[in-house]
Amino acid sequence: MIGFYFRDAKLFGFLTLLLSLGCCYSLQATIRYNVSLAHPEQHLFHVTMTIPDVENEVFIQMPAWNALYQMRDFSAHIQQVEVRRAAVQPEDDAGHAVIAPDTEPPSIEKIDKLTWRIKSHGGDGTINVRYAIYWDEPGPFATQLNGEHAFINPAMILMYVPERRSEQVQLALGDVPESWNAAGPGIQGLEQMDRARQFSSTFADYDALADAPIEAGKFEQFQLPGMSPEVWVVIHGDSYKKKQIETELKRICEYEIKLMGKAPYWRYTFIVHTGKTAAGAGGGMEHADSTAISVLSPESLPGVAAHEFFHLWNVKRIRPATLYPIDYTKEQYTRALWFAEGVTNTYGSYTLERSGLWSKQQLYHDLGEQITELEARPANRWQSAEQSSLDAWLEKYPLYQNPEYSVSYYSKGQILGVLLDILIRDRTDNAKSLDDVLREMNNDFGVSGKPYRDSLDVQLAAEKIAGGSFEDFFKHYVARANPLPYQAIFVLAGLELRQTSRQRAALGFAADGALKGPLVVRSVDANSAAAEAGLQTGDLILKWNGGEPPRRIADWLRQHKSGELLHLVIRRDDAELKIDFRLGEIAETFYDLAEYSRAGEKARHIREGLLHGTTDAATLRATN
Ligand SMILES: [Zn+2]
Ligand SMILES: [Zn+2]
Repeated sequence: MIGFYFRDAKLFGFLTLLLSLGCCYSLQATIRYNVSLAHPEQHLFHVTMTIPDVENEVFIQMPAWNALYQMRDFSAHIQQVEVRRAAVQPEDDAGHAVIAPDTEPPSIEKIDKLTWRIKSHGGDGTINVRYAIYWDEPGPFATQLNGEHAFINPAMILMYVPERRSEQVQLALGDVPESWNAAGPGIQGLEQMDRARQFSSTFADYDALADAPIEAGKFEQFQLPGMSPEVWVVIHGDSYKKKQIETELKRICEYEIKLMGKAPYWRYTFIVHTGKTAAGAGGGMEHADSTAISVLSPESLPGVAAHEFFHLWNVKRIRPATLYPIDYTKEQYTRALWFAEGVTNTYGSYTLERSGLWSKQQLYHDLGEQITELEARPANRWQSAEQSSLDAWLEKYPLYQNPEYSVSYYSKGQILGVLLDILIRDRTDNAKSLDDVLREMNNDFGVSGKPYRDSLDVQLAAEKIAGGSFEDFFKHYVARANPLPYQAIFVLAGLELRQTSRQRAALGFAADGALKGPLVVRSVDANSAAAEAGLQTGDLILKWNGGEPPRRIADWLRQHKSGELLHLVIRRDDAELKIDFRLGEIAETFYDLAEYSRAGEKARHIREGLLHGTTDAATLRATN
């Protein structure tokens, strides 16, 4: 059972009341978490974890990673872990358990950076662990508690018992401020207690809880009309148009469900932050039955939503064996992200175009931009799509993200997806496509729950659908970094890749920041004038030519020429420094796709099939 939904608040209140009446811990062999949101402006979640059936000793652990492929050691955010024997008798007025005075209290000892050992020293075997954990980071990969809202990735605040991760768990969110509501794929009902507002839910296991983000605050909540199973939108933000969001998300969800045959959830939730509430960190994170998305402008929502919703199949159900079961304590190395993320990008773009949210020109332009991005990176000559996947764990280092060090498995995977699609369509006379490969993999791995063996099973599925071997394609372009044969493949779909070169001004460094205020220098190119003038990674840019630093640096650069002087005032440690240098110049190559005017009939069919998500086999079936 993964959480309860009670749309009828009265019914939910009644059931929760029953739960709380019957909540003598000794009667329930379920690990239970109580999370208090009291004083949200202090950014501290107060967690009580109740562990039943402890014989002698038990280990508890905090995840080192979740959501992002980055070691983040969430235990570093914890204050003061304490253990007590859970109260079998009522607690006294101060909330302390009433226990026999001669019983030795349980003890706790830290074992490593993530792990504690608790000794129970007798008692009835139920232990309460209490701690506070600090989070004030915005964005879908983070956790934040402040006066405005709480957004929670549960694995970032809740410990687990390593050998009991598969047990059912309960979560209660308490002390939710008066004017707030709470929502998420697990938490839906609300109950007004005497003083503490509480929301609660039950999850099949810790992993299911970890995969169910929670939003609490003042948000709008609505259902996409006419969709079954239900799709809900929980939106916290400003200046968005509900009607527009409703229309766009509905088109995306309906297309992808039609493509894959069936919705794999019984209820889905989009948790969206937009406008000011999304400042600081954007993006989207997929979950089993939900997604959390932060976009500065609602215009960016469809692009992220189409990608995240497709993850419902690709990654959440069609799962690479290298990522399951989850090990929260260390890196899980996978060569499959070019497929799990990149081909999800392929389908994000296909969905936007096939559902009418994009024109076909936008699809071509987007693919051209991905090729431009990939081909501009010197690392493209030596880092393959599989290697880029494997090294995802290095992405937390800004240097690694520079073009000399890595390629993106998002863009490369997206391109590989389209190329493979064209090859399958060409080989089968447009009777089969990559869509069939995804459906095949969903049958073989998604529905059965059996994880797939990274690139190998993608290759085998493609070969089964198209007939013949794709060994060379996977060896040269997925496992190795051979130059992609764009022209030779695009021509099969009546498309040609056009290339233009331009000189443009270059800063020599990369920086970003929130909507207002200083920019943070993320990296400085070694041979640039900026480096020579002394600019360093981590510097805060306070002033830019005497004014506010621009938010859209690429736009700013377009309006300036190489050789122009740039005056920066930066802060480094406690000092303010002036740094002046001249803009450099780089040659950029841009790629764009265009329809080939002399394409033959077969190529035109393939192109139309790709644009509409159809094959000639499907058309034949439909007309028969
Ligand atoms: Zn929020
Ligand atoms: Zn993704």
